[in-house]
Formats: sequence, structure tokens, C-alpha cells
Amino acid sequence: MPLSSTPEKGSKPSQPPASFGFRCIGCGLVTTAAAQDFRCSECGNLLEITDSSWNSRNPTALKTLWRERRSLNASLDLSGVWRFRELLPGPASEDSVVTLREGNTPLYELPQSSRRIGIPRLYAKHQGMNPTGSFKDTGMTVAATFPPGRISLGSLRFDRQHVGVDGSLCRARWNAQPGACAGR
Ligand SMILES: [Zn+2]
Repeated sequence: MPLSSTPEKGSKPSQPPASFGFRCIGCGLVTTAAAQDFRCSECGNLLEITDSSWNSRNPTALKTLWRERRSLNASLDLSGVWRFRELLPGPASEDSVVTLREGNTPLYELPQSSRRIGIPRLYAKHQGMNPTGSFKDTGMTVAATFPPGRISLGSLRFDRQHVGVDGSLCRARWNAQPGACAGR
């Protein structure tokens, strides 16, 4: 389903258009390729992923859709990652998605901290409440969903070995390992 069309409430995976790129958060350089460290080749600042198709989407409709999915019981809707699948690469099928309901972690308001730094409200998302106790679960559900090889996002390609999953062998560093192994 093209993301610019009317989104569906159910759990059918969607396929984003091939319109991803990188933009430097420092100097604004836009590029279609990035080095492994995701740093700007001009100023060394971090790169963020952009998608020009996001500009044509209706943010209010997407927010409504994502809120409505919180009350559904399909496996993709119970995931705090796949609930927002309009922003993700499309898997081959719903059954191919590897998920443990990751990402549905609580937000805690921090009133003392917000007063101290002079902002109205401040929240912390407790990613330690993920299935394996690590924020890495949110990336690993996407990495484990796609078949061995490379994940393509438009002109971008990600080697699966870079995200720690290789066939039946789990290779990951530090707190990425439980998430990688849980997905196998
Ligand atoms: Zn830059």
C-alpha cells in the first residue's frame, strides 16, 4: 500500500515509497549515501534519515490511525514499533514480522527536572521495560523481520550483518545481543 494513500487500521504491512535520504543535523548537507559511522563528510556532525514522501502525508490522519491501533489486538498493532509501520520498510508479509511487543514502554513525567531546566513538561521513556530489557529491541524487531542479506530503503541499503543478525548465529555487542537472539 503506498503510504500516500488512505492508511488502514488493521495489521496489513505497508510498503513505503523509495524516497529516503540523509541530512546533516549540523550543516544541512543532503546526500543519498552515508558512511558506516553516519557522520557528515563535510562537518562531521550526525546524519538523520529523511523521507520526502513524509511531506505529502496527513499528520493528523496518521496520529489518529496510530492512536486507534492501540486498542487493537493484532500482533503488529501490539508492537510499539510496527504500530507506526507507515514509517518503516514493508516486510514481505504480516507473518514474516518478528515481534515481541517491543516499544510499548511507559513514559514517566519528571516534574522536578522540568522545573529545574525551565520547561513546562519533561518525560522519560523507560526503554528498559522492553522484552529483553534493552532499547535495542526496537531496532532488532526490524532487523530480524527481513530475510538474510540486505535491507533496501529506496536508494539506501543496509547490510544485515551490521545490525547483528546472521542466519541462526547471533552476533551483537553489549545490550544488543539479547534483542538479536530473542528475534531468532
Ligand atoms: Zn554537515
